[in-house]
Amino acid sequence: MKKAAILGVGSELLEGLISNRNAQYLASELKLLGYSVIKIVTVGDVLEDIVKEVRELLSKVDLLVTTGGLGPTMDDLTREGVAEALGRKLYVDEELVRKIRERLSKRFTRIPDSVDRQAMVIEGAQIVENPVGTAPGQMLKVDGRIVLLLPGPPQELIPMFESVKDSLKTNNTFYQITLKYYSLPESLLEDVLRDILYAQRDVTVATMADHVEGVRLRLTTTMDKRHILDEMVEKILERTGDHLYGVNDERLEEVVVKLLKERGKTVAFAESCTGGLLSSTIVNVPGASEVFVGSVVAYDNEVKKKILGVREETLERFGAVSEVCVREMCEGLKKLMGADICLAISGIAGPTGGSPEKPVGTVFIDLFEKEHRTVKYHFSGDRNMIRTRSAMTSLELLRRHLKGV
Ligand code: ATP
Ligand code: MG
Repeated sequence: MKKAAILGVGSELLEGLISNRNAQYLASELKLLGYSVIKIVTVGDVLEDIVKEVRELLSKVDLLVTTGGLGPTMDDLTREGVAEALGRKLYVDEELVRKIRERLSKRFTRIPDSVDRQAMVIEGAQIVENPVGTAPGQMLKVDGRIVLLLPGPPQELIPMFESVKDSLKTNNTFYQITLKYYSLPESLLEDVLRDILYAQRDVTVATMADHVEGVRLRLTTTMDKRHILDEMVEKILERTGDHLYGVNDERLEEVVVKLLKERGKTVAFAESCTGGLLSSTIVNVPGASEVFVGSVVAYDNEVKKKILGVREETLERFGAVSEVCVREMCEGLKKLMGADICLAISGIAGPTGGSPEKPVGTVFIDLFEKEHRTVKYHFSGDRNMIRTRSAMTSLELLRRHLKGV
């Protein structure tokens, strides 16, 4: 199996100012391309450290990917470090200078000379275009090994890596599918699927769970066995299809927006303990305006009463965190916004405010189209986990409502 290493360059990484998301992304991608990632190393913006690590890593691996340090400033030293480690010269590519200046002149009136540093190319390197920022990447072959230089910002690195990925493939690439669930706990999922998941050894199974994306079931096999994995997915979906919200990178909010568009329906939210988180999450999806009308952040009871028309008596008898209250919130919202589907959330995010009957984590969600569908939850976790779980669970309720499951 071919070996790979990842070298993160940046003092911010060593100082703990940013987390090494690039390494995480690259490690999982390289695995799929058939590499065994044997080292992930981080160095600061120090020339001799970069030179030393590049030499050392290149003596051990077939592919070395560096991230960061390709910008125009004096502390961006990856180009110089790699060139020195390889004993190659750097030259200024005039065509690149022109392109970078042209790109920047659209946004700035004055362009500093330092941008030309970004046009310095290592002898023999091929340029990897940067569709998002100005710092181009570089890829070079050294005695049958590959060195790939990519910039630091993930939003630049990811599309650039995608663009060269095919040329990095080995003979044993992997095939992977991730199935995503929000309304099925990890333990239950395993229980329901045990006989399918562990029936044979060709497919590796991993489950991951968190409160944002829910439970992810990741199946991996070698490319020549992809038919076995596909058959397995079919069997899994026969049992859990209703619960599946997405595959691979699909996000729950994207799926909900897509379904709303397909059904030609609009939504509005009344949010208490989530404080607008649900609205903000749906607005992350481009084109949400076609389906999302608006929301009321009814945090204080006065707002629940005055804006949404929740009755004083309801609040006194049942409290703001109650089935009756979320139903009235939805009805008020419907009058106010006229959306096809209204959804209201009221709960206790903590850390204070809980009681024996309604402990922290008690959340009521009502979904109202023609009828009310109200659910009471007991979420665990800290304040923000409870808020996130409330928002994501609301999206899952919407998804299931729209799917009719
Ligand atoms: P730029 O032209 O933006 O300066 P660069 O290639 O010089 O790009 P760096 O200066 O090293 O990159 O880092 C720029 C930013 O990219 C960092 O401030 C950080 O936000 C992000 N970044 C850098 N390295 C990583 C990493 N390993 N994981 C995630 N983000 C990173
Ligand atoms: Mg930089």
